[in-house]
Formats: sequence, structure tokens, C-alpha cells
Amino acid sequence: MGNPKTKDKGNLHLGNCALCAKRAKLSFEHIPPQCAFNNKPIYVQTHEHLVEESSYLFGKKMKSQRCFGKQTLCETCNNNTGGWYVKDFCSFIKQGMDILTNNQNPYYSSGSYKCKPQNVIKQILLMFLAADSHGIVRDFPGVSDYLLNKESSAFPDKVDI
Ligand SMILES: [Zn+2]
Repeated sequence: MGNPKTKDKGNLHLGNCALCAKRAKLSFEHIPPQCAFNNKPIYVQTHEHLVEESSYLFGKKMKSQRCFGKQTLCETCNNNTGGWYVKDFCSFIKQGMDILTNNQNPYYSSGSYKCKPQNVIKQILLMFLAADSHGIVRDFPGVSDYLLNKESSAFPDKVDI
């Protein structure tokens, strides 16, 4: 489990922030956060690795030392959302893993959570937004305002989670 407030800034490159849309140096966003079992190197396979039999990449894989994520948020948005939502999301994930780990029934599992659901939902929506290279999620009415205001409970009308 990583510290949810610690964000890997890594190498920065210029682009439009997936949340505030400002042109800025983008920092690496772990998707999901490191505390959600995204804290080890991973292997990545794209469409070319899996489907394109004529490609020299077919059947191969790439190793990513940085876990899964993208350079997608400006440093301000990365630090703000990390401080506002990640801790509560991580608590939710840890409780879910405890429920699954302690499950005695082979057919189903159930449990209860003590969490701040608004912050958990905001982190989930932020992950969709961070993974979206085209800004489609960000441009839904109300999404950016909802996520950029830590006190907002105005969940966007046209979004379902
Ligand atoms: Zn930003």
C-alpha cells in the first residue's frame, strides 16, 4: 500500500490537463491510485500485441515500471484531487479487500462499508476522466465543476457510475 497523498511526479510533459483543460506540464496519474493495488510494475499489451498477427509486436508485451497510469493531469489538479479524494477511495478499496479476503461463503460475499461515498464516487469519475485521452468525459456538462470543487455534491446529470 502506498501513501495515498504521495503522487509520482515522474517526467513532466506539456499537454492539456484532463481535468481543468489548461495547457500545462502533465504529471503521471496512477489509474487506479497506488493504494488500490496499482503499486507494482505491470505488463501492457495493446491491440497490436494481441490481435495484429502481421505486426512484429504480436504476442509480445511491454513492461511498465510505473504501474498503470498516464500523464494526464496538471500538477495542481493531481495534487488537489490526490489530497481531496484518494484517501477516502483507498479506505473504500481496503475495506472491500478485507470483505473479500474474510469471505467464508463460496457463492457470494457481502459486507458493509464505512466511507465517504461522495469522495469515493469522485475518485472513480476522476479515473474515467484521467483515462480518457480525448476529453470526452471532462466535457460532459458539470463534470469538471463537480471534481474541481471538493465541496460540490452536484453530480453531473448525464453521467452514471
Ligand atoms: Zn489541471
